[in-house]
Amino acid sequence: MELTLQLKLLPTAEQVTALRETMSRFNAACNWLAQQAFAQQCSNKLTLQRLFYHELRSRFALPAQMAVRCLARVAGTSRRDKTVCPTFRPDAAMPYDQRLMRFTRLDTVSLLTMTGRALVVFLLDPYHQQRFDAHEPRQCHLVVRGDGTWFLLVVVQVPDGTPFPPTDFLGIDLGVVTLATTSNGITHSGAAIEACRTRYATRRQRLQRAAHGAQMDGKRPKNIRRALKRTAKREARFRKDTNHCISKALVTAAIGNGEGIALEDLKGIRTRSRFRKPQRAKMTGWAFAQLRCFVEYKAQLVGAPVVLVDPKHTSQQCSVCGHIARANRQRQAHFPCKQCGYTTNADYNAALNIRARARVSWPIVAVRPPQQLWLLAGEASDKLRHSWRGY
Ligand SMILES: [Zn+2]
Repeated sequence: MELTLQLKLLPTAEQVTALRETMSRFNAACNWLAQQAFAQQCSNKLTLQRLFYHELRSRFALPAQMAVRCLARVAGTSRRDKTVCPTFRPDAAMPYDQRLMRFTRLDTVSLLTMTGRALVVFLLDPYHQQRFDAHEPRQCHLVVRGDGTWFLLVVVQVPDGTPFPPTDFLGIDLGVVTLATTSNGITHSGAAIEACRTRYATRRQRLQRAAHGAQMDGKRPKNIRRALKRTAKREARFRKDTNHCISKALVTAAIGNGEGIALEDLKGIRTRSRFRKPQRAKMTGWAFAQLRCFVEYKAQLVGAPVVLVDPKHTSQQCSVCGHIARANRQRQAHFPCKQCGYTTNADYNAALNIRARARVSWPIVAVRPPQQLWLLAGEASDKLRHSWRGY
């Protein structure tokens, strides 16, 4: 599969100037070309090349290969939507291919700029080393973050893990209050993310109030706009980091036991209001999808099979007797079965259902005894016998 590695560049002050100049001129060239292409309603790369290549090069003094990348990018972007003329920010990501860059040493990359080649040092930690070493990078993007940090996004081919026949499945229920609950009773709380979100929401409100007082010709002052943007990005990074940690823990737990991974098939979750109102406000679709996405690709890397099960009634069905009722799900945390009296944590009950559904859809090679469910705190001992499922 393809992975994108994010290599942090450590350019000198001089190199930063050169990279900025290159980036803004490349994007200016893209803007100009996009307008020409839009005027001609043309998104064919070869036609654009025939019509504008020479003017593009002379107008912006672009090196030949950079002009080719510019043509390819504009053609690609124009093709997506022909009704609008695409625009590029001066600091938009800039594509670098094999002819524009070369990894000279393990920690240095040679990047073509408007003022010649710049040998830029980058950081390579063990994670990157493992994946970067053996694979020739094919396609890169040069990006600069708002705080002035430079990155090279490198696409590498990493072999998928060898698929193994799972001995069982680890059912994972993804949620908002508890981000992930597994069928062996491990929970990953969303408390840290929620605290982060609240903290930043408060800060945003304060900034918005301040902006309201200081508005000039209907626009927010620039420093406040920037601060708002920075806050949003910080929150997103925190969330992404947490999602990486949780997904890694989940996949590691599963392969440690030779298990596959079972998730709910949540196509259309946004339309099917699974969440109650106060939660719906909290839930941002992308963050939720990100965790799923991370679990799926990390599983693919180690060869763990992923089964997506029908999500219908997973939170309303009793994992012991199979009774389905709306009344079963009274509160967010608590699941009391109206038929057999089994009570447990609601998310955990859902995770067990997800696991059971995956087992049905997949032939299990060897059967393991059920997980040690009494590890769950707060369970009444006389209910424990219910947690044994008769496999
Ligand atoms: Zn029941």
